[in-house]
Amino acid sequence: MLSVKNFVFNPFMENTLVVYDETTLEAAIVDCGCLYETERRELKKFIDDNRLKVKYLLNTHLHLDHQFGNAWAAAEYGVLPRADRNDEKLIDNLTSQAMIFGIPERVEAQPLGGYIAEGDEIKLGNATLSVISVPGHSAGSVCLYCAQDGILIAGDVLFAGSIGRTDLPGGDFDLLTSGIRQKLFTLPPDTKVYPGHGPTTTIGREIESNPFF
Ligand SMILES: [Zn+2]
Repeated sequence: MLSVKNFVFNPFMENTLVVYDETTLEAAIVDCGCLYETERRELKKFIDDNRLKVKYLLNTHLHLDHQFGNAWAAAEYGVLPRADRNDEKLIDNLTSQAMIFGIPERVEAQPLGGYIAEGDEIKLGNATLSVISVPGHSAGSVCLYCAQDGILIAGDVLFAGSIGRTDLPGGDFDLLTSGIRQKLFTLPPDTKVYPGHGPTTTIGREIESNPFF
C-alpha cells in the first residue's frame, strides 16, 4: 500500500511528494522542490521520522520549481534524479530560468542519473508506479500511476479544475488535452490525483467538471 505525503514548497507553491510503501518503507521523492533551508529540513525530518529509505528521486517534468531541491536530495540520499529525456535540456538553463522568475537564491543544477519513459515500471516495495507520458505542458511531462492503489501523480498535466499551462517552450495545448483524454480520463473514475500544484482531485471529478473538456 502506497502512502503519499504532500509538501508545498518554494515561491511557486509547488507540491513536493514523498511516495512510499508502508510495509517496506521504500520511498520516492517526486518533484523535489525545496528551495530554502527550512524546506529541506522539513522534508528530511519527515523522511527520518518515518525511517524511509529513499530509493528514487523522480521528476514529472523539469520546470524549475519542480527541481530546486534535486542537487540537495541527490547529495543527501545518494540517488540521482530521473526524468523523461525530452525535458533534460531544462536542467541546463535552470540558473537563467531562476533569474527570469526573480529567484535570488543560487540554484544548483543537478544532472539526471537516468531516464523514465512511457511504460516504465518503478517498484517501491510491493507497489508499482507506471510511467504515463503526457507531453504538452512541457515536452517531457510524465504522470506516475499506481493501479493497485488508485493513485495518479499528475505533475503539471492535470489540476483540480484546470490543466497545465502550454505557453512555455515545449507547450502544446492540443497535444496536452488529447493526452489527458486518451491516457488519464480512461483511468478508473475513483483514481486519486495528486497534481503538481493545488489540491488533490479524482479522475471522475475532472471528467465531470474540468472546464477545459
Ligand atoms: Zn511545470
